[in-house]
Amino acid sequence: MKTIEAHPAPPVASPRVAAENRQHWAVVGGGMLGLALAHELTKRGKRVTVLEASPELGGLASPWELHDEETGRDVTWDRHYHVTLLSDTRLRQLLAEIGLAEDLQWVETKTGFYSGGKMHSMSSTLEFLTFPPLRLFEKFRLGMTIFGASKIRNWRRLEQIPVTDWLRKWSGRGAFEKVWLPLLKAKLGDAHTRVSAAFIWAHISRMYAARRTGHKKEMFGYVRGGYPRILQTLAETLEENGVDILTDAAVAEASAKPAGGVAVRLADGSSLDFDQVAFTTPSPVIARAVPGMSEEERTRHFGVEYLGIVCASLLLRKPITDYYVTNITDGWVPLTAVIEMTTIVDPDELGGRYLVYLPKYCPADDRLFDRTDDELREEWLAALEKMHPHFSRDDVVAMRFSRVRSVMALPTIRYSERLPSVATGVPGVWAVNSAQILKGNLNVNETIQVADEALAGPLAAALV
Ligand SMILES: Cc1cc2nc3c(=O)[nH]c(=O)nc-3n(C[C@H](O)[C@H](O)[C@H](O)COP(=O)(O)OP(=O)(O)OC[C@H]3O[C@@H](n4cnc5c(N)ncnc54)[C@H](O)[C@@H]3O)c2cc1C
Repeated sequence: MKTIEAHPAPPVASPRVAAENRQHWAVVGGGMLGLALAHELTKRGKRVTVLEASPELGGLASPWELHDEETGRDVTWDRHYHVTLLSDTRLRQLLAEIGLAEDLQWVETKTGFYSGGKMHSMSSTLEFLTFPPLRLFEKFRLGMTIFGASKIRNWRRLEQIPVTDWLRKWSGRGAFEKVWLPLLKAKLGDAHTRVSAAFIWAHISRMYAARRTGHKKEMFGYVRGGYPRILQTLAETLEENGVDILTDAAVAEASAKPAGGVAVRLADGSSLDFDQVAFTTPSPVIARAVPGMSEEERTRHFGVEYLGIVCASLLLRKPITDYYVTNITDGWVPLTAVIEMTTIVDPDELGGRYLVYLPKYCPADDRLFDRTDDELREEWLAALEKMHPHFSRDDVVAMRFSRVRSVMALPTIRYSERLPSVATGVPGVWAVNSAQILKGNLNVNETIQVADEALAGPLAAALV
């Protein structure tokens, strides 16, 4: 991987590349989507340069270090929690192509619910049937809603209905108010009123697909070494295939050249020329960087409403529970969920420590982003201590906060009708980002499929 110096010369083509005179693509953004797209383009014989704004690859899946205050050692793992499902066939295909399929570890997991000030296990049908907050007929209606949703194929109809209306109608008031509404608020905040029923359908479909593949068991997987290893192996594969990967290379502008091709100006003032440029960044970044777009296109990109996240990583001396995810329905808890990564990942990979994530999703302009680490640390650890009386903040040996404003495009009402198109009005400039996900929620499998669908669809004509 290369770091851009002050004013670098454009990447020099190797004699082999120059002789072949291959079409040269820039992929803007070195997250999983950009890297998967680059990989696919090399398979189609293209010369590719990845331009990533950050010092390292991975975007939302990038690694970071947690400093163990007791041992003085750093533990490297994903900045945000990641698991792979058995049904994530596209991601698993990519892992096989880069030689990591055999390193997937599969673990049966348990799900918890924190409701009414108590922890409840929700990992089997029996546990569901004995879940105290709901009466029997409320459970029946909730179960039928989930089952019914898993059978729906025409998601476009769901896109026209607010998720709150749809869930209230099918699950009834009791289950809606005791379970769905608190979960929606925990995940979406105030935006829950603007989101369509396609959101919950996508969640249910993903979990159903996982269980179908997993013989009704909740099996989650991870690659030994986590995303740091996936990203490193993917980058090595790309470089072996001739891809130039430039980090610290934020794209400021992309514009069509009069004689054909696209001129890219980086934030440091240097410029590079390409035949085609595919942006994989959040939509507002594309709208700002492509001045040749029409006003309508720009409005569409700026109109994509993003959900952000503040997510703490904690290294602990001991585990808190044996649930991978604890969903939270009690409104006083300032978190979306509690994720215990070491119910899946072997603690030996983490210096013998236990890794817990505390995510709080919120709108991109939420005031949560203004809170300091110290404020959040105090509030969130106090909440964890109240939820789990056996947990003490003295067990925390590292805590670090990640803040990202543009994580996931919200599937608002009639979202697909307002979606920006992959082809922009600027010849040779494409918008291939996760905002294109219509039939799923944000995950790496869907993300890679965005690249596949763009290559098979709008980009096909450009792959000459
Ligand atoms: C808390 C959390 C938990 C998750 N859990 C899971 C999970 O369990 N399983 C799963 O499969 N997925 C999970 N995901 C989703 C997964 O991380 C994403 O689907 C995936 O990483 C998105 O990749 P991307 O390339 O589309 O976007 P990003 O990762 O956002 O990449 C975009 C890249 O563009 C770069 N960029 C931005 N502006 C510019 C510019 N001007 N010039 C150049 N580069 C630029 C950014 O630095 C970034 O690297 C999770 C995500 C989060 C946040």
